[in-house]
Amino acid sequence: MTKLSYERPVIKKVETGMPNKFGLRTEYLPMTEIENNKVKDLVKEYGSPLFVISERLIRKNINEAKRAFTDRYPKVQFAWSYKTNYLDSVCKVFHQEGSWAEVVSGFEYDKALKNGVPGKYIIFNGPHKTDEELLKAINNDSLIHIDHLDELYSLMSIAKGCNKKAKVAIRINLDCGIYPMWDRFGFNYENGQAWDALNKIMLNDYLELMGLHCHIGTFILSPMAYSVATSKLIDLSLNLQSKYGHTISYIDLGGGFTSKNTLKGSFLQGVDTNPTINDYADAITSTLINSNIKPENLPTLILESGRALIDDTSFLIGSVIANKRLTSGKRATIIDVGVNILFTSFWYDHKITPAQPFSHFTEDTVLYGPLCMNIDVIRESINLPLLNKGDNLVISNIGAYNMTQWMQFINLRPNIVMIDLQNNVHIVRKRETSETFERSEQTPEHLNKFEL
Ligand SMILES: *Cc1c(COP(=O)(O)O)cnc(C)c1O
Repeated sequence: MTKLSYERPVIKKVETGMPNKFGLRTEYLPMTEIENNKVKDLVKEYGSPLFVISERLIRKNINEAKRAFTDRYPKVQFAWSYKTNYLDSVCKVFHQEGSWAEVVSGFEYDKALKNGVPGKYIIFNGPHKTDEELLKAINNDSLIHIDHLDELYSLMSIAKGCNKKAKVAIRINLDCGIYPMWDRFGFNYENGQAWDALNKIMLNDYLELMGLHCHIGTFILSPMAYSVATSKLIDLSLNLQSKYGHTISYIDLGGGFTSKNTLKGSFLQGVDTNPTINDYADAITSTLINSNIKPENLPTLILESGRALIDDTSFLIGSVIANKRLTSGKRATIIDVGVNILFTSFWYDHKITPAQPFSHFTEDTVLYGPLCMNIDVIRESINLPLLNKGDNLVISNIGAYNMTQWMQFINLRPNIVMIDLQNNVHIVRKRETSETFERSEQTPEHLNKFEL
């Protein structure tokens, strides 16, 4: 029998069943396992902090999303948003489930090709595509989504130069009731820029207009916004039909669906308040099927959903480094997970669960990361049971953006593992070593010698 650990006594006002200002505590159990693997064993084997991705949950999410849309609309295609998480293993799970690739840079474009995605199934978005990248995309028959007139003109001359038709769409920004409105990407609908760009494309011999694209923002809490966006794209497609007799082959509504995370400042948990994939699917597909588009002309509906499909598939395990008391009397716990690897803690209150049994005595705590930097705060205020040095925590809903937007700042980035359908663990990105950085650095000879 192991000796019970000592926990200092606390005096607490009894408020049975009453929420405190952080809401009711809903978690009474530790998270000791992820996909049948003990958290403690994972830490022992692969170190802490450790990113853990569940292959099963990725497949579950993409299949639920496909079902939500294909049950309601005949032609649906998902494209995996590389920038949300471009680990090769993650991308390949999505490709195995039938997703195309949606990329926003030359680096991501090449990654998709290397992952084995045929050029014609790569959607090339983003405001910066070099001439060489555009040429490559034309030659590979990729779908090029034009962001601005300068890109449109480059594309016209590059396509003419290689005597090949470029397959294009334009990105459209529009007012769908979400403010501040994202108007920095693409051509505006309301002021006629989008219609002007479409006419320029229709009258050019080297551009083939394939579709219309928009991505209205991210973590959009209102499915109705998608309905408005869809109706504006439909309006443009009907105008193209009546003026040129041209039928576009797809409408691409981008991403932006919420994940199950809780936004900072929100009182209720995200799982309880955020729309489901079915809510979005309903808003978009009803607008399409109830429109005046003739059934034989209905476009393929492309979706580039990122965070909604990957956030809740991944976990970040961390360890407690120390506890201390601030001058205010508040408890501070320092963990080995900092904002350098958990970038999304700037806008989410992640679910954070101890990985070993705990008592029901909790205390308002500030969670600091390990960086020597004042902004390294994982959580200003969280109701946690007492944790000791060496205890582990599991941070949930971290699959989106953290593994691409992370920073190498004073620490090396940790291992990432994926747990497969048989619950076997695979390293999918090795922890960095000092060699990772020495490889890229060069020192001029005269700096190599010094005496102190
Ligand atoms: C980032 C991005 C996405 C994915 O966005 P989510 O909010 O993660 O769903 C899709 N399309 C484009 C063009 C993007 O830039």
